[in-house]
Amino acid sequence: MSTATIATLGSHSCLQILKGAKEEGFKTLAVVLPRTEKFYRGFSCIDEIIKIHFWSAFPKIEKKLLKKNAILIPHGSFVAYLGENINKNFKVSYFGNRKVLGWEGDRRKQRKWLEAAKINVPREFGRGEKIDRPVIVKFYGAQGGKEYFMTHSQEEFQRKIKDFKGRKFIVQEYVIGNPIYIHYFHSLLSGETEIMSVDKRYETNADSLGRLPLKGQKDIEIEPSFVVVGNIPLALRESMLVEALDMGERLVAASKKLIDKRGIWGPFCLETVVTPDQKFYVIEISCRIVAGTNIFVPYSPYTYFKYGEPMSTGRRIAKEIKLALGQNKLKSVLG
Ligand code: AMP
Ligand code: AMP
Repeated sequence: MSTATIATLGSHSCLQILKGAKEEGFKTLAVVLPRTEKFYRGFSCIDEIIKIHFWSAFPKIEKKLLKKNAILIPHGSFVAYLGENINKNFKVSYFGNRKVLGWEGDRRKQRKWLEAAKINVPREFGRGEKIDRPVIVKFYGAQGGKEYFMTHSQEEFQRKIKDFKGRKFIVQEYVIGNPIYIHYFHSLLSGETEIMSVDKRYETNADSLGRLPLKGQKDIEIEPSFVVVGNIPLALRESMLVEALDMGERLVAASKKLIDKRGIWGPFCLETVVTPDQKFYVIEISCRIVAGTNIFVPYSPYTYFKYGEPMSTGRRIAKEIKLALGQNKLKSVLG
């Protein structure tokens, strides 16, 4: 058993990460809130629990984590609740490149990255450009679709945006197609980018509007919303996997030019919408494990084909850390 402890926040993909760490022989630790403590105590893949009263108290446990040789695995809740500053200033070891988080939270930087990787992105409307088609207005940060709104005219946009004074947002063409989320893992040790799995999201109320007849929808004037509540597994048409992998590799290559020499490594996700001409439009990059990988424990079809044994994204992270430890290269995979 390794002396390092794999640690993460009790939320999002915590169970998957810690189960994977346990399977690779690490000690495991979850940082939880009082409300979630009982839930996480119910799982034997968690060796230790540290309770804090608010996420903002997280920096206070820095010393405890350092003492335990903890390696933190970031997930969506890190981005949503701790912010990039805590992540950047924190001395505890951290799997992945911390610099990349600044790119996850900033939609303009993301666009630059995607364009540098020659990946299709939906049209964006700049200030003063007249909105003349369906658009989605999206706020910054990992909010899981919270508060986004749709509009199709300039007049309606101006009326709706009044409720969000002082917030950063972008106005993006609403791409009509299938939302498909591709999960990747890039290894700094081997230089390889792998496709781990693919999911689609289950969003309320966007995914339930179709259950009402058009007349019912018209009568009550429902606003679509995109708040994620779960994920559904998907096998992508095999011929499309080729372009999917290529996009992931191009994104990694571009990150080495734009961010720093090491670029992005570990798990990441391209959130795409696929149009009838089979083009991927990427609407967002998540630069860490996404919760859509939770449905692929113990494995996805693709990780089964590749490894022939249980290999979730959570376990793949632990495997990479173990490989790095074995090669005396731990520092090279820490951000
Ligand atoms: P939570 O810890 O559940 O509040 O989630 C932290 C962040 O990750 C939030 O911004 C969520 O919207 C996002 N998130 C949580 N679960 C999922 C999911 N299943 N799919 C996509 N995003 C998620
Ligand atoms: P995001 O926060 O960018 O992951 O977006 C949350 C959800 O909003 C996605 O899962 C989609 O359902 C929807 N969405 C965001 N941007 C677009 C777009 N440009 N076209 C169509 N749907 C979108």
